[in-house]
Amino acid sequence: MARPQVPIAAVDVAAYTIPTATPESDGTLEWRATTLVVAEARAGDWKGLGYSYADTATATLVHDRLAALVVGRDALATTDCWNVMVREIRNLGRPGVASMAISAVDNALWDLKGQILDVPLVGLLGDARSSVPVYGSGGFTSYSMQELTAQLRGWVDEGIGRVKMKVGRSAQADPARVRAAREAIGAATLFVDANGGYSRKQALAMADEFAALGVSWFEEPVTSDDLAGLRLLRDRAPARMDITAGEYGYDAWYFRAMLEAGAVDVLQADATRCAGVTGFMRAAALCEAFQVPLSSHCAPSLHVHACCAATPVRHLEYFFDHVRIEQMLFDGAARARDGMVSPDRTRPGLGLMFKRADAARYAV
Ligand SMILES: [Mg+2]
Repeated sequence: MARPQVPIAAVDVAAYTIPTATPESDGTLEWRATTLVVAEARAGDWKGLGYSYADTATATLVHDRLAALVVGRDALATTDCWNVMVREIRNLGRPGVASMAISAVDNALWDLKGQILDVPLVGLLGDARSSVPVYGSGGFTSYSMQELTAQLRGWVDEGIGRVKMKVGRSAQADPARVRAAREAIGAATLFVDANGGYSRKQALAMADEFAALGVSWFEEPVTSDDLAGLRLLRDRAPARMDITAGEYGYDAWYFRAMLEAGAVDVLQADATRCAGVTGFMRAAALCEAFQVPLSSHCAPSLHVHACCAATPVRHLEYFFDHVRIEQMLFDGAARARDGMVSPDRTRPGLGLMFKRADAARYAV
């Protein structure tokens, strides 16, 4: 007999602010802490865990507005819950806090569904592959040359053959930093991310300099708000260099606009921002329609299952900050082996257990 509906009993939310290991910066931002917003959805005897990296305002929105909306609805009806949350935030605006709040809840509901049906999330979504390649990501502009090269080299020594560093803070200093990185990692694949720190002409000049150092991925060479600028870079950068962006995508229309503009060689999407696993799989469908590969942004433990289910996925970002936080606070956190991560098929849902006692000291 088919399983009866299971009403959602509660959605709890909490925020934790974790100081970074050292001060961090990229081309356009500096930070010393990261906030993790954890949502837990309960139904029957089951509990689902979801999260986002967001502001504490995200937790407030989940608590004050979204939780009550999904309580009482069928725990298997993830699309119904998603629709009702999206309708609720109409006047608040879809990008930013609102979509991050929906993400945390949607992710918890997908995990909950996996718990109830006792299948890993990748099985619920439908496996496309058994593991996904990762790239090591960090290389902050706040790092000394020694810190930069040691981190990138460390990933290569661990068997992760692709690494990404930050650029865009100083057009004068960047070529020497990239050259040092290249020397440190030998023949490994080198990506750079400017976080929109260059002007169009600066970025064009940098594309040539970086290409000479074998850089094959130039992320946000100009601001992602400048789709024509990204398209210019995509058309004029060397052929072996991918132009990429998409991390500030909160809805399908953003991704469609970026793809319609021909702005990227690879689209990036983040299930902690784009309204959860539901939104991420829709971004993947758009990528298929436009024949553009997809790469997940940050939050590695959250993306393992979706990246093994979404056909256009090329790789998963193994972001230093989030790897550190997830290994500290989640039992079952993603851990790269031979440059790949694989879903744990012995556990239902996302396969993550929140270490509440360890997190308590970071509670906001
Ligand atoms: Mg980026």
